[in-house]
Amino acid sequence: MKNIIIRWSIFFICLFVVYFVVNAKVHAIAQANLQSAMVVNLPQYTKQELIDDATARMKYMLTRTKGIKFFIHKVKSRENLWGIAKQHGYSVHTVIGCNPQMKTYNVSINQKLLMPSIGGNLHPIRPTDTWQSIAEKYNIDENILKNTNYGITDLSKEYFIFIPGKKPAVDLMNESMQEKYALRDLFRSPLAGRLSSTFGTRKHPVTGKVSKHGGIDIAVKTGTLVGAAADGIVTVASTNVGHYGTAVFIDHQNGYITHYGHLSKILVRVGQKVKAGQIIAKSGSTGRSTGPHLHFTVKKNGVSLDPLKFLW
Ligand SMILES: [Zn+2]
Repeated sequence: MKNIIIRWSIFFICLFVVYFVVNAKVHAIAQANLQSAMVVNLPQYTKQELIDDATARMKYMLTRTKGIKFFIHKVKSRENLWGIAKQHGYSVHTVIGCNPQMKTYNVSINQKLLMPSIGGNLHPIRPTDTWQSIAEKYNIDENILKNTNYGITDLSKEYFIFIPGKKPAVDLMNESMQEKYALRDLFRSPLAGRLSSTFGTRKHPVTGKVSKHGGIDIAVKTGTLVGAAADGIVTVASTNVGHYGTAVFIDHQNGYITHYGHLSKILVRVGQKVKAGQIIAKSGSTGRSTGPHLHFTVKKNGVSLDPLKFLW
């Protein structure tokens, strides 16, 4: 009986030893495979893949930068580029600068946008680029560039580097964004305020009817100074301009006209020449309005355009 117990004990001890040895070996092999997989299977992307696929671009940037987080913003309904940028504490330039796939300012639901944790842009590396030439192009310290993109040793083997705190270079954008960027110099914002209603189809806040909104509404306190969006001649300055209430229209003499509605006070007269930024009125809530705001319309050759195409 004693013998049997000893024999079984030896048998189980052997079994355990064999189990641990085999287990350790398997673990070591798995570990080795994992390591070689990490070296060999680092995802390789083409430049086009990085442009088309925001997630690929995020992974690419995460392995090359330091001190910046990159993440994907999935566009929700009723979101626009300006609001998304504001949510993350920077301007639209950053969203545009990190998303070279964009060809318009319009975003659609579920569209994926690459967002950095700080403002800046992705510079597409050209064959002639050096750290110094890129630093000079964006007027940034070369060491900041290198530290930010610490994972990059050979620029010629890379596609993008992150330029912290700088706007995208217009000459490096795709053609359709270049055209849109050119428009931005035409007008300046008539005032700084929260955008309460955007251009396009909406349910009217007063009538409740779905209609097209021909401009943007900027919520501001009554009495806020309103500046001309560009040089021009005042064509309308009246307290009785239909649902606009008190309004000013300016003809910019290049096919463009701007409207400023729901004003409380007019400070110009018809026929007067005004300069960009010159104060023309005070905001209010006259006409068909639910609360103090400025209504701002841009028309080209009689057609209303989205003012956000011009304003930044
Ligand atoms: Zn409006």
